[in-house]
Amino acid sequence: MTITYGATRNAAEALRGMCGGAVHLPGDPGYDASRMPWNVWVSRLNPAAVAYPRTAAEVSQLVIAARAAGLQVTTQATGHNASPLGDLSEVLLIKMSAMTSVEIDPVKGIARVGAGTLWLDVVEAAQACGVTVLHGSSPDVGVLGYSLGGGMGWYARELGLQTNALTAATIVTADGSIVHASATENADLFWAIRGGGGNYGVLTEIEFRTFDFSDAYAGMLVWPWEQAEEVLPVWAAWAVDAPRSVTTSFRILQVPPMPEIPEPFRGRNLVVIDGAVLAGDAQADAILTPLRALHPEMDTFARVPTATLVRLHMDPEGPTPAVSATAILDDLPSAGIDALLAATGPASDSKLAVMELRQLGGALAVPAERAGAVSHIPGQFLAFALSIAATPELGELGEQQTYQAIEALAPWTSGRDYLNFAEASMDTSRGYDEDAWLRLRQVKTDWDPFALFIGNHAIPPLGDD
Ligand SMILES: Cc1cc2nc3c(=O)[nH]c(=O)nc-3n(C[C@H](O)[C@H](O)[C@H](O)COP(=O)(O)OP(=O)(O)OC[C@H]3O[C@@H](n4cnc5c(N)ncnc54)[C@H](O)[C@@H]3O)c2cc1C
Repeated sequence: MTITYGATRNAAEALRGMCGGAVHLPGDPGYDASRMPWNVWVSRLNPAAVAYPRTAAEVSQLVIAARAAGLQVTTQATGHNASPLGDLSEVLLIKMSAMTSVEIDPVKGIARVGAGTLWLDVVEAAQACGVTVLHGSSPDVGVLGYSLGGGMGWYARELGLQTNALTAATIVTADGSIVHASATENADLFWAIRGGGGNYGVLTEIEFRTFDFSDAYAGMLVWPWEQAEEVLPVWAAWAVDAPRSVTTSFRILQVPPMPEIPEPFRGRNLVVIDGAVLAGDAQADAILTPLRALHPEMDTFARVPTATLVRLHMDPEGPTPAVSATAILDDLPSAGIDALLAATGPASDSKLAVMELRQLGGALAVPAERAGAVSHIPGQFLAFALSIAATPELGELGEQQTYQAIEALAPWTSGRDYLNFAEASMDTSRGYDEDAWLRLRQVKTDWDPFALFIGNHAIPPLGDD
């Protein structure tokens, strides 16, 4: 038996009045604001309805009602990675922003977080308890989307991906049941969500490990753009051999001249290496010596409370129009460095706000114990090019230039993608190894055979190609 979704024109009317009235249909006064994601470049989202549940029970009622009305379901915390979503005219968009909560149990080493929670709130709560969590570079990314897609932050080469720090989840599945998933309960579902994202249900809460430290040796080194040719080869060679206690990123930044940006960065083109070392000060100093030998104009590396790392990367907060492209690199020999600098360095016509390489390796290179579907990220570097799409013209130019920058690295790409950074509609199987992909499709068939749920990177049931 198959189900074909194809809601009648007024199917979404059946949802009206649910969630205490927080359901918006096309034409309603709240519809346009509610369908707008964090990445406001993605202004085309056209859901059949947008709903803001407050409890797992309300999520369950929505799922049952959407299914009865012939609508599919997709979920968002913030819309940081909304770009891959296609036509949503027969899809209910469930936004989790009314379900925020943070509980930290430092004795058990566990955090329990509601589905709409942003990283900043968890990081601050963790710091107050003397523990640290595996957040990423942005304070306002949603904990759920980040955690379900992988989750690579400043401790990743030592402690791995956040998705593999998950210990349990509460999920509303395709028949509206509220189920628990962990290593011992619905273990196949628990495996699949850890990398398979929103394809298996609506998660209402997750639990994950916290780590028993509250400071790190962290900061940034800054050079003028003109020194990119000098700094990149040294960093690239250093990054491959560096101990797993250090995780860094290399960026070429073209910082806009906006008044809210601090003066040393505002309106300048720069090379920035930032990151964290989980080692004592003397050892951390020794690890960073080859980079400091390049005489950065600014060096902020020092021992700091871990909560400060959530803003170390200076990621934009609040709604932002952005276009991007990404690839995983197996290696970056000197020809690759030349290609990257020709596309985005000081002699190029690049207008990219960010050309970034994140350092892989260490714990990221090997499958984690009791891992989910994304057990590790093979490769030496994760490349990411981003442009601010402040106008339609800049958006078009950004789409061209981000694509060209990543295309220039094609000879060194691995053929795999890191889906959290992938903001285009693409072949989702590129996010997984072959066995994991088949198993993800099997678990999809077992739990959601008629594809009620669609993640931003969709996983089809078996036989649905
Ligand atoms: C500025 C910026 C900085 C970033 N930094 C990092 C970083 O350092 N490391 C890193 O790994 N990634 C990073 N990312 C990528 C980020 O992890 C992804 O964009 C992630 O998908 C965002 O999650 P979200 O919940 O905020 O976004 P959303 O767009 O709301 O969600 C993304 C997807 O997650 C799924 N999802 C979300 N909530 C639920 C739920 N409750 N139930 C079921 N499925 C759900 C859905 O499939 C949804 O389409 C960054 C992105 C940006 C824009």
